[in-house]
Amino acid sequence: MEKAIVMNTQKFSLHDGGGIRTLIFLKGCALHCPWCANPESQKREIEVMRKQSLCIQCSAPSCQACNQSSAFCPTGAMAEIGEWMDVDQVVRIATKDAIFYEATSGGVTFSGGEPMEWAAFLREAIPKLKAEGIHVAVETCGAGPLEAYEALEQEVDLWLFDLKIADDQEAQRVLGASFEALFSRLVLLREAQAKVVVRIPLIPGYTATKANLIQIADRVRSLHIEEIHLLPFHQYGEGKYQALGREYALEGVNPMGKEEVESFRGIFEERGFRVQIGG
Ligand code: SF4
Ligand code: SF4
Repeated sequence: MEKAIVMNTQKFSLHDGGGIRTLIFLKGCALHCPWCANPESQKREIEVMRKQSLCIQCSAPSCQACNQSSAFCPTGAMAEIGEWMDVDQVVRIATKDAIFYEATSGGVTFSGGEPMEWAAFLREAIPKLKAEGIHVAVETCGAGPLEAYEALEQEVDLWLFDLKIADDQEAQRVLGASFEALFSRLVLLREAQAKVVVRIPLIPGYTATKANLIQIADRVRSLHIEEIHLLPFHQYGEGKYQALGREYALEGVNPMGKEEVESFRGIFEERGFRVQIGG
């Protein structure tokens, strides 16, 4: 049976696919978006986060200096992120709330990280969920192997496909992958007539420029996709960078104002998209 590193499971979510959902976050992502709100999801390995604010200095003068194991830590200041789970474990968690999915047109969403980097796991898990009548969504940035999208294009009920930077060189520099390579997965899904919602994070200084959004809008329109979700920048991930001992490129950047978000919405509405703000 296939296994994956599960970063987290979140029950009763009202985001990411409609209705009440269980979100399954798989760990590992080939991109390195500087704004990533879940930096602990990027490495395809179990890692330890250290939150100084929870440290009671029971064994060391600081959380960073502590040599204890995370299992010993009494406050959760030091916590392991990620756990190997097999397909049946995940399916068991997901099917527990089937009654709520049915009542609300909800279901299960695989997110990450990049869940498509765990294609073999998904190819085993998704048919099991579908056999229980559960709606399955996958949130992807297009960074999984092409064959994985080919294998799952008909299995997944809804694809939440994130696009970020349309300029190929800029995408390569900032994200670590070319726009055209990521976009080719979206083309493949649309050629198979898969249901897709495109999602765009609005990140000051990176994605949230008129030129970038117009370019993305025009490319997406050519694929006859009707719905766009715009995800305004927030600072929810800031503390996690510190806890992982990593630098955060968007430190101190203000959340986006409503007026600015609305002006970006206009770019997409003018082109005939249905636009939702937030996921
Ligand atoms: S065990 Fe936990 S609370 Fe105690 S010093 Fe180490 S990190 Fe801090
Ligand atoms: S694609 Fe998503 S998970 Fe991967 S680095 Fe970017 S924001 Fe983070």
